[in-house]
Amino acid sequence: MGDLGDIRPGSLTKQYNICGKEGCRCKNKINPIKHGPYYNLSYTYKGRGTSAYIPELYVHELKIKIDNYSKMKKLIDEWIELSILKSKIEIKLIKKNNKK
Ligand SMILES: [Zn+2]
Repeated sequence: MGDLGDIRPGSLTKQYNICGKEGCRCKNKINPIKHGPYYNLSYTYKGRGTSAYIPELYVHELKIKIDNYSKMKKLIDEWIELSILKSKIEIKLIKKNNKK
């Protein structure tokens, strides 16, 4: 798990916007070109939802961290599952060897 590298929870969305400016390219009737892309990271940490604008230059690095986070979550889930199973077996063995 230490090989994973940096982690970051959250999901990244890509958005294109229309602005309020009169006659802007984003409002062109024939070929509108919206502004963007804008990247937004939203996540919940310690029970609080947050979102942050992400500069395009950081998107690649951030995607790696987000990917690492979900890998870590999966590994922890497996670890928990196996730990429960192991503990159940240990309890069963003690009961078996300790019949009164
Ligand atoms: Zn515009």
